[in-house]
Amino acid sequence: MRGLTVWLTGLPSAGKTTIANAVAEQLDGPVQVLDGDEIREFLSNGLGFTKADRDTQVLRVGWVAKTLATHGVTVLASLVSPYADARDKVRALHGEAGVDFYEVHVATPVEVTRERDVKGLYARAYAGEIENFTGVQDPYEAPVSPDLRIDTQHETVAESAARVLELIHPTTALRAAAGTPKETR
Ligand code: ADP
Repeated sequence: MRGLTVWLTGLPSAGKTTIANAVAEQLDGPVQVLDGDEIREFLSNGLGFTKADRDTQVLRVGWVAKTLATHGVTVLASLVSPYADARDKVRALHGEAGVDFYEVHVATPVEVTRERDVKGLYARAYAGEIENFTGVQDPYEAPVSPDLRIDTQHETVAESAARVLELIHPTTALRAAAGTPKETR
């Protein structure tokens, strides 16, 4: 059985984790959400937000994702991952292992993400309490040709999740759209 990796990239509060969890709920079989913030507490405890540390974080999570996917897991990675070169390295890691990799740009504009401010971090960054915050002081390099670009401004969470499902599992997406309960699929 083959796994795959869906890599959700975007600004803080774009909707990456929300979409990852919504997709995971719809999938049968082994699924793992790798949430960047959670991983920073454990696997990447001690890393900061310089470009070098961000790249280390992305490569670590990329390696874990590739390894899990090699063993049949559907991996949903939700990380800001602001630098294109690091994301490209993660894609290459998957290519070398022969594992499918889908880059999904959760393309919520900063005007919207700073209003959402799910964790209150934009407010703290604007107040000068946090440095190197992506979208305020730090850059975000949007993917040029992602496998999918999601506009959360004009879509519900369910619609965004359905688009990811269509990308990776056309059959599952059809069943989910038809309202078939997960247990009977
Ligand atoms: P991130 O993981 O990118 O930092 P979160 O998923 O934690 O962001 O938060 C995104 C917020 O945006 C949530 O409050 C979520 O309910 C809201 N939201 C509104 N529309 C969407 C959508 N279509 N997809 C994902 N999130 C959405």
